[in-house]
Amino acid sequence: LAKKNEQSFAFFDRQANNIAQAHLDTYSQLHKAIEYKEFELYYQLQYTEDNKIFGAEALIRWNHPTRGRISPDDFIPIAEKTTLILPITSWVINTACIQLKQWQKNDYTKDWVLAINISAKQFLEENFVKEMQNYLNIYKIKKNSLKLELTESLLVKDLDTTRDKMKALKDLGIQISLDDFGTGYSSLQYLKKLPLDQVKIDKSFIKNILEDKSDIAIIKSVILLAEALDLQVIAEGVETKEHYEFLKDLGCKLFQGFYFAKPQRIKDIVANNYKLLNK
Ligand code: C2E
Ligand code: CA
Ligand code: CA
Ligand code: CA
Repeated sequence: LAKKNEQSFAFFDRQANNIAQAHLDTYSQLHKAIEYKEFELYYQLQYTEDNKIFGAEALIRWNHPTRGRISPDDFIPIAEKTTLILPITSWVINTACIQLKQWQKNDYTKDWVLAINISAKQFLEENFVKEMQNYLNIYKIKKNSLKLELTESLLVKDLDTTRDKMKALKDLGIQISLDDFGTGYSSLQYLKKLPLDQVKIDKSFIKNILEDKSDIAIIKSVILLAEALDLQVIAEGVETKEHYEFLKDLGCKLFQGFYFAKPQRIKDIVANNYKLLNK
């Protein structure tokens, strides 16, 4: 038995080692990814209840020269453990602002709101507000057209600091959405204390919405609560017509998911929306 245990420990060791090595590879290759222009932003359109596009979420993709397309779930958490997330986020903000500026020149897209994901580490950087202000100034972005998606992980830090920073961002004309809502530490206190514009119901609650009574109850109460606190609610991960109609019946007014549109490159968004052509 001892022998067997030893072997399986050796096996686990090797497994852990392989994972650690893979992370290390990812980490060292991430260093070069910006310089080599391997990142790309995809945009997932967001819709109102009457099927109109009101904005999009920017989602990063890493086109690795040999490993192919790497999903953000496989490198953002690694980047977040180090300071590498900082230059990556700056690249995302800059690239997103250039796109948003482009939309603001076009009649059909001029009122779209663009959401970007900001990791806690970036948000907590001392000069984050200043950096955002710089981007808004450089590109002359319209007030309230840029939205930051922040996760609840921020809230376990220092609530007062978080609130002050959010207020400063709001004063610049930046919207704030609480992402993955319901999966973390959210409490009703937070919703009341923070100057949020939107909560985003996590897709894990939407998946089984047609049969899971407790998911339905949670979504219902989030919608009621948000209404009472004057917050927008958006549902993510809306994959089917049934999801959409069910959510609409519950009073949800904003939607994002494969049923409406997948994350796409700009050129595909243009090709798929005739109103954007020839403009
Ligand atoms: P997230 O912010 O919760 O983004 C939503 C994820 O759900 C995206 O995955 C999106 O492609 C996916 N999704 C959209 N519609 C559907 C649907 O109908 N069904 C299902 N099952 N999934 C759907 P993606 O693009 O792989 O991004 C994963 C996560 O990586 C994001 O989760 C976010 O946490 C992070 N991420 C992505 N881009 C960035 C970025 O630029 N900066 C930072 N800090 N994080 C990012
Ligand atoms: Ca998000
Ligand atoms: Ca989310
Ligand atoms: Ca997520």
